[in-house]
Amino acid sequence: MSKKQKFSLCIHGGAGVISKEELSDKEKKAIVKDLKKSLTAGEKILEKGGSAVDAVCAAVEALENSAYFNAGKGSVYARSGKHFLEASVMEGATLQAGAVANSERVKNPVLFAKELLKNKDVVMMSGTNADVFAEKLGCEMVENQYFDNDFRKKQWEQAKELSEDAIFLDHSNLKMGTVGAVAIDSDGNVASATSTGGMTNKLDGRVGDTAIIGCGTYANNKTCAVSCTGIGEFFIRATVASTVSNLMEYGQLSLEEASKIAIHEHQGKMGGEGGLIAVDKNGGFTMPYNSGGMYRGFVTDSDKKVFIWDDEE
Ligand code: ASP
Repeated sequence: MSKKQKFSLCIHGGAGVISKEELSDKEKKAIVKDLKKSLTAGEKILEKGGSAVDAVCAAVEALENSAYFNAGKGSVYARSGKHFLEASVMEGATLQAGAVANSERVKNPVLFAKELLKNKDVVMMSGTNADVFAEKLGCEMVENQYFDNDFRKKQWEQAKELSEDAIFLDHSNLKMGTVGAVAIDSDGNVASATSTGGMTNKLDGRVGDTAIIGCGTYANNKTCAVSCTGIGEFFIRATVASTVSNLMEYGQLSLEEASKIAIHEHQGKMGGEGGLIAVDKNGGFTMPYNSGGMYRGFVTDSDKKVFIWDDEE
């Protein structure tokens, strides 16, 4: 019998300008609690020998159900006042992937992306046709108003006060962001999942990196699993997630070196801002960012920690 490998799971809840002064204790506590809930959801699966794909989807689903993050329930407002959600999932063992862009009615887009991952005929779907297909597959559907909330509405109004076409990175000035998870399971398989409402006041129809395999999400058993957060346009142009894997596979770089280059050199030097979480095929992990902070955490079979800035929360 082959020896079982130890598991690791990392999560993020967005990177951005997270100001210590503006984040109240109450808010911080609630965010840390929901980040821990997400870690526990994934950990429960991994400690029983479950798959990395199931673990990252469970961790992201928990964050989608929290109003504190810009994904699922807490999704930001687009220019028309509606919410358009995106998510993607990738499995490192098979290189199968599933992704959805501009969904208006799927309660947990990550679970729909997971259904698409199992479907060999399609990787990515978008818009109302995606919603119709999700419903057929039995995904839980909601009205778009389910995603309404006062906090996000205020952010949207602030953006419009600046100008009709001002776009806010959802988590600039303490706002919480996009969510993601990466894991390696006890069979040595890696997986990644990411989910978002995009950017405040984004153009209806805009697609960000979160929905795009290779940009916001990537997983390959030969190298690593990566989930990104930040200004999507830069992450798309720098193909950040697959760049980390390619630097490892073809450049023989370590996970840490490859991730640093992708964030600080590739997207950073273009003017982008954000971060990523990544695990490698040996269970090592890294969580670099070039923004003010990043909500993040990890769990292994011996440790569990949550961070916003440099120190553990
Ligand atoms: N990357 C996401 C997007 O551009 C935003 C984020 O990470 O907060 O849609």
